[in-house]
Amino acid sequence: MPEGVIVVSYIAATILFILALRGLSHPETARMGNLYGIVGMTLAILATVMSERVSAYGLVIAAMVVGGSVGIYVARKVQMTQMPELVAILHSLVGLAAVLIGYANYIDPTAEFEGVAKTIHELEIYLGVLIGAVTFTGSVVAWGKLCGKISGKPVLLPARHWINLGMLIASVLLGKWFLGVESIGVGMIPLILMTIIAFAFGVHMVMAIGGADMPVVVSMLNSYSGWAASATGFMLSNDLLIVTGALVGSSGAILSYIMCRAMNRKFLSVIAGGFGTEGGGPAAAVEGEVQAIEPEEAAELLESARKVIIVPGYGMAVAQAQYVVADIVKTLRAKGVDVRFAIHPVAGRMPGHMNVLLAEAKIPYDIVFEMDEINEEFPETDVAVVIGANDIVNPSAEEDPNSPIAGMPVLEVWKAKTCIVLKRSMATGYAGVDNPLFFRENTRMLFGDAKDSLEKVLNALKQ
Ligand code: NDP
Repeated sequence: MPEGVIVVSYIAATILFILALRGLSHPETARMGNLYGIVGMTLAILATVMSERVSAYGLVIAAMVVGGSVGIYVARKVQMTQMPELVAILHSLVGLAAVLIGYANYIDPTAEFEGVAKTIHELEIYLGVLIGAVTFTGSVVAWGKLCGKISGKPVLLPARHWINLGMLIASVLLGKWFLGVESIGVGMIPLILMTIIAFAFGVHMVMAIGGADMPVVVSMLNSYSGWAASATGFMLSNDLLIVTGALVGSSGAILSYIMCRAMNRKFLSVIAGGFGTEGGGPAAAVEGEVQAIEPEEAAELLESARKVIIVPGYGMAVAQAQYVVADIVKTLRAKGVDVRFAIHPVAGRMPGHMNVLLAEAKIPYDIVFEMDEINEEFPETDVAVVIGANDIVNPSAEEDPNSPIAGMPVLEVWKAKTCIVLKRSMATGYAGVDNPLFFRENTRMLFGDAKDSLEKVLNALKQ
């Protein structure tokens, strides 16, 4: 295919990716955004495969068939609740690809660079491998933490900031060595040493993150994977990959910043790793009496309320209770009850998790509110219904400075006249922090699987 056609296809793909990002920023346009992304990616792959640089068609097609089949299988099999883990492991592949391409590029016998061009080429390789290696191991650990294979508790080495600083300085010095050598054989030594350090840094950084702070790390790794792709684009002199990587990198960085603000954490300390883990003394003990409630009583409370706010959390996703929630909302609204949803920015296990579930169940967007828009309304609310949420409604974030989640903004459901909490047991949430909400005088616990309990509530409402 002529070079001109490829350039035009790349520009078209870039525009489609930008439109995709724009579309994905709102539930109503998200479907269209996805479509733009699919068309853009198809165009990008076709243009790349048809370019003059590709000659081994057999290999490319074989790789696409294998990769595509694995992708289709995984995407069909994955549960909605496993989506964040899938995203994390996919990020790790981007990182690994950057590392491998970096090495392949370095030992490429056909590469002929001289003077400044050689230095730039080697710098691209060095940075690409560095970012790729951190992204790879960081994402694998994030995957382990998200699916529970690695404990969510932060692993804090005594001199961790010094260790990080040491690794940074060592990487810079190795980089200086790498850029100064003539022979590939010798250059391999600093490159391999730096790769090992970067692998270790990725593990160390994410292991040090406490459970409740994982959302920021996931979006940060998303950003890193974008920069890794961009670095790969530089190594391969592929403009589309550079731009696409930069789009992912910068949008991931913006998302991380937004998440940091939502969690009341400092962006810079996130990048250094192990943030938000320095509690003073031990967290306050949680005591009091738990008051359980039956579904029929919950239905009565809801029916007689004027104003109800529903707070969905990870447990709603596990129970797949969104459809019965939608039926309850419809029934209550038909009876004249003002029902709204309050969405915490880190509810569930990925950004926008709850919005996706509610949209799936066709709950109207105009009754779904972000935390900042609705948090002040709990004091005038008759019933707050917490469906499988825990950390995001934990009052100790506001009241106990020693709590691991101290300072994180939470939905103040305890300020409602009555708060009904649906969950299966007294177990803690993702952050592993006890929740005094369950022991408050105005809290009623509706124990059981959220979907089962809500079906019983719906039946009672309909009678
Ligand atoms: P939590 O993990 O705090 O709590 C979920 C609760 O749901 C659990 O306490 C569990 O209690 C209950 N539950 C689980 N299954 C069911 C079921 N079938 N029926 C009823 N209840 C159920 O979730 P939140 O949404 O409140 O908070 C999100 C947490 O995840 C935060 O700590 C956040 O930092 C973290 N996180 C968020 C990410 C994001 O991007 N949004 C990414 C990574 C982590 P029980 O077992 O007793 O039923």
